[in-house]
Amino acid sequence: MWTLVLNCGSSSVKVALLNPDSGAVALTALAERLGQGGAALRLDVGGEPRAVALAGGSYPEAFAALLRELDALGLRSDVSAVGHRVVHGGETFSAPALITDVVLDAIRACSALAPLHNPANIAGIEAARTAFPDAAQVAVFDTAFHQTMPEVAYRYAVPDAWYRQHGVRRYGFHGTSHAYVAQEAARMLDRPLAELNLVTAHLGNGCSVCAVQGGRSVDTSMGLTPLEGLVMGTRSGDVDPGLHDFIARQAGLNLDQVTAALNRESGLLGVSQLSNDLRELEAAAGRGHAGARLALDVFVYRLAKAVAGMAVALGHVDGLVFTGGIGENAVAVRAATLARLGILGAGVDDSANARAVRGVSGTISAPGRLTTLVVNTNEELMIARETARTLGA
Ligand code: ADP
Repeated sequence: MWTLVLNCGSSSVKVALLNPDSGAVALTALAERLGQGGAALRLDVGGEPRAVALAGGSYPEAFAALLRELDALGLRSDVSAVGHRVVHGGETFSAPALITDVVLDAIRACSALAPLHNPANIAGIEAARTAFPDAAQVAVFDTAFHQTMPEVAYRYAVPDAWYRQHGVRRYGFHGTSHAYVAQEAARMLDRPLAELNLVTAHLGNGCSVCAVQGGRSVDTSMGLTPLEGLVMGTRSGDVDPGLHDFIARQAGLNLDQVTAALNRESGLLGVSQLSNDLRELEAAAGRGHAGARLALDVFVYRLAKAVAGMAVALGHVDGLVFTGGIGENAVAVRAATLARLGILGAGVDDSANARAVRGVSGTISAPGRLTTLVVNTNEELMIARETARTLGA
């Protein structure tokens, strides 16, 4: 059985057709610039890239082009299930859900919490239901894994009515990735996940840490929105809540402008004044660019502080896991972070750390130090597995 995994954004759809048991990938595709000029479906079948122009650039058109490709490959009838990445499941969804009209309405009801993401996810689900009428459709939520957090971790110290009436609380994101790498870490350590206390650090363009106790999330750094917590590519992470009022008055900005600046002009980009891309910043810092150096230092300092914070949620830590584009590749960031985590007994093995790049996973801690792993995340595979599990249940 092949599962089609779809990640529908406002102007793009990421597609993977894979086998949830073996992990084999039959096809990956990216429909991009949807709703803009020059929309295209870029396909990769068995390492052979190809692009198909999408004249109108709508979701239905992208799916029609995908269907034609699946037909040509003789794969269409093999698609028995579609797994959708859905960003926000609010407090309604603590597990993946078979998509029905009732479930779709419930996802719609969470849109206020993720106004940029959920509507795109819903549009993708509707188009996919039309394009694949015979396939079961499952929603896999970014937030669901974190629904096991205790109230002490998810409540903010704000007026109670904000929580009761408007759902103001910590939800957390990247749940699929945190859950997957925790499972993988247990497998690599050859220990039952149920016995492990792990801190997982997903470091990509968005970044978050999670405290995973026995395979369940007990705290995480992202909150009501994916803006809270760590320094990210263009997102600020934590700031003083008084900042909005202050900078609005000082710089003459309205609320939308402040929010946009914190999401898109901050983080590594904001501090460095150069780039949101960590690789570029490392190269620039090597050439003596002071802004790049400072951005990297702030990133690492805040990451180490957040990891230590997750240790409080766990009581003791059996292992630390790095994943995401930065976590899987940035040797110097990992070393600098571990150097700041002496309080947890962390210590790096420099040669093991240097080897764990470009898809190589493994242990990077020195003997006797806090077990630290690099694990390659695979959100598509996890969504396919969760889809299969939901349909089997
Ligand atoms: P997304 O969150 O969009 O999936 P990724 O997980 O691909 O993003 O992570 C992107 C980040 O990973 C970028 O900051 C990029 O510079 C960084 N990255 C990728 N490869 C390397 C590398 N070899 N060294 C350092 N950073 C890297």
